[in-house]
Amino acid sequence: MGEDLEKLKQRLPLLDYLRQQNWVARPAGHGPEFVGLCPLHPETRPSFYVNTRKNLFYCHGCGQGGDLLRFIQLSRQLSFRQSLAYLEQHSAPPADPAAVLEQAATFYQQQLDGYPEALQYLKQRGLYDPAAIQELRIGYAPGGSLRRHLTAQGYSCDLLQRLGLINSQGCDAFYRRIIFPCCEGERVVNLYGRSITAAVAHRFLPGSKGGLYAWEQVQQCPQVILVEGLFDYAVLWQAGFRHVTCSSGTHLNTRQFRQLCDCPRTVYLTFDVDANGSGQQAAQQLAQRLRAQGIATRRVLLPDGHDPNSFFVQGGDARQFQSLLEAAQP
Ligand SMILES: [Zn+2]
Repeated sequence: MGEDLEKLKQRLPLLDYLRQQNWVARPAGHGPEFVGLCPLHPETRPSFYVNTRKNLFYCHGCGQGGDLLRFIQLSRQLSFRQSLAYLEQHSAPPADPAAVLEQAATFYQQQLDGYPEALQYLKQRGLYDPAAIQELRIGYAPGGSLRRHLTAQGYSCDLLQRLGLINSQGCDAFYRRIIFPCCEGERVVNLYGRSITAAVAHRFLPGSKGGLYAWEQVQQCPQVILVEGLFDYAVLWQAGFRHVTCSSGTHLNTRQFRQLCDCPRTVYLTFDVDANGSGQQAAQQLAQRLRAQGIATRRVLLPDGHDPNSFFVQGGDARQFQSLLEAAQP
């Protein structure tokens, strides 16, 4: 805690804080000292001094003195711990959502290896290659530790709540979930969380899910495989297919649709072959819309009841999937 406090105090110097609170001061001589009316007791002649080199204050009127944390304790009548929490919020770095999501993604990634149940779940979903798991930056949210981690870095609870990382009670929103960061270029724009228990299967953070998954990596490919789920994406990636992208659902948003149409290419629609036919129906509709934009399409027909993920989980391999691609019909 001591080191964190030093960092906080460096990030928000005492004089800057006082000026934010409308403290009016003038230099006291030529040294690093400033003087003004004491904010802690009523007075008409200035006796409150701030030494910017030491980052300390002292009042000759009321005899109080100390650092920024001490000042917050006295001026706001807070305990040491409360003052620290106040300071953490107050000195939060400018809120760049992408930077916070990046920190969250990194944190979740670091957790993964510590939770056998998470690795077990990935194995069940056909993901076992540590290199692929790392390349895709797959992580695990055990729940209950993200908030502490991010507030210790100076991010405010308010911001975390706005991004949906914590709920209105202040608890981590993702609990026992496998996490996929969704990026646009280098920026993390959302996090996808898949529950490892049956409870609530999957969700994104509030806000846009962004464009197609990892689009920059396939944008130049003349042939692109489009899947509907991130676990479909991950097993294909692990099997060595690199010209894959994912729409996270069968309904593409405007952005995703435009991306697919941004230059001539062939799109291999590899949606679920589910019993009620909804995946194939969606694929058919999308194919029509794409063709209207001059994009060639092929529908990849997986065996009945399968999606790309279950195809690989149940023993399908890269060669067999390649045959399905070759057999795909317009
Ligand atoms: Zn005073």
